[in-house]
Amino acid sequence: MRMISLNVDLGERTYPILIGPNLLDDPEPLRRAIGGVSAVVVSNETVAPLYLERVQAHLAGLRHEAVVLPDGEAYKTLDILDPIYSALLKGRHDRHTTLIALGGGVIGDITGFAAATYQRGVNFVQIPTTLLAQVDSSVGGKTGVNHPFGKNMIGAFHQPRAVIIDTRTLDTLPDRELSAGIAEVIKYGLINDAPFFEWLERHMDDLLAREPAALSHAIERSCLNKARIVAADEREAGARALLNLGHTFGHAIETGMGYGQWLHGEAVACGMLMAATMSAELGWLPHTEVARLRTLLLRTHLPVTPPAELAPERFRALMAVDKKVIDGALRLVLLRAIGQALVTADFDPAALERTLATPAA
Ligand code: NAD
Ligand code: MG
Repeated sequence: MRMISLNVDLGERTYPILIGPNLLDDPEPLRRAIGGVSAVVVSNETVAPLYLERVQAHLAGLRHEAVVLPDGEAYKTLDILDPIYSALLKGRHDRHTTLIALGGGVIGDITGFAAATYQRGVNFVQIPTTLLAQVDSSVGGKTGVNHPFGKNMIGAFHQPRAVIIDTRTLDTLPDRELSAGIAEVIKYGLINDAPFFEWLERHMDDLLAREPAALSHAIERSCLNKARIVAADEREAGARALLNLGHTFGHAIETGMGYGQWLHGEAVACGMLMAATMSAELGWLPHTEVARLRTLLLRTHLPVTPPAELAPERFRALMAVDKKVIDGALRLVLLRAIGQALVTADFDPAALERTLATPAA
């Protein structure tokens, strides 16, 4: 299969997204993205045994080391940065070093934030190994960690130098993680790519069976969508907020249940259906389209009902700490159609109440 190359167009900070099977065996993309003479690979206890050696093989001749962190969203905290900064300082890494994130979105977000802050900013490269990271978190430069009071509350914008996606790394990904990643893929169809949503309806079985051509297409189309939105609105002054479809509801579920109970993509899936349901409550989206989304999510083995533990009052309180709240007004991403999302604070609050009171069961 050919290697696909896309760009995230950000002027002099433009960077490539490279997609292909066995890209981990090609030294070129990584060597090109490393400017200086040293590098630190950050990975975790699950991913390092699988892929670290193949990445380190390309660092021969450079001063390099690896930091292997414990695995899990629960470790995406400020504390986890310390071993990274310590390794950088002990290894006398200067401003020309490169951090390489090898893992899922958790490792990408942590490593990116370390790169944004170490000596006020060093290079970094994303080598995402989950579907969610390949189609979403590795692209666009949002980095950060969680705070006990809210998810992703401490962070920085810091774009990578390159995103290197070896689609074969998905071979080892657990089924539940694959489905969670597909939630973000479905999101792009919902936001502004109705033909892609239809393609997903036709090819979901192929994706779940990890058919290489289907996976490759889904990753490419998702990255194209994300790259276009990021290039138009890097710092989320406008259109980029559309990418938060399902996330305000989803973050409430993740925070309310405790990090790590629901996977991010699972919470987003349920959140997208809640956003669609609310859009139908507002009379903006036909109920038949909500049913279409629900069917696709169920086929993907994703949750469509919020946890019973989260009563509406608690849900609303959790949504209020979301970053999308500006000057006290809750802004939500809602749908006018499949393939047509909008960001708005201008909605009848009763529709939100009804959505929270009668979850989309
Ligand atoms: P994750 O990083 O926790 O990875 C999921 C699990 O899969 C982990 O146990 C991981 O060790 C394991 N794993 C990773 N690659 C593997 C492989 N190839 N084979 C086997 N196991 C593998 O979770 P995620 O879903 O990748 O990312 C979720 C995180 O991403 C959340 O913290 C979320 O906030 C963040 N995120 C960030 C952005 C952004 O723009 N920065 C966007 C979306 C999500
Ligand atoms: Mg997300």
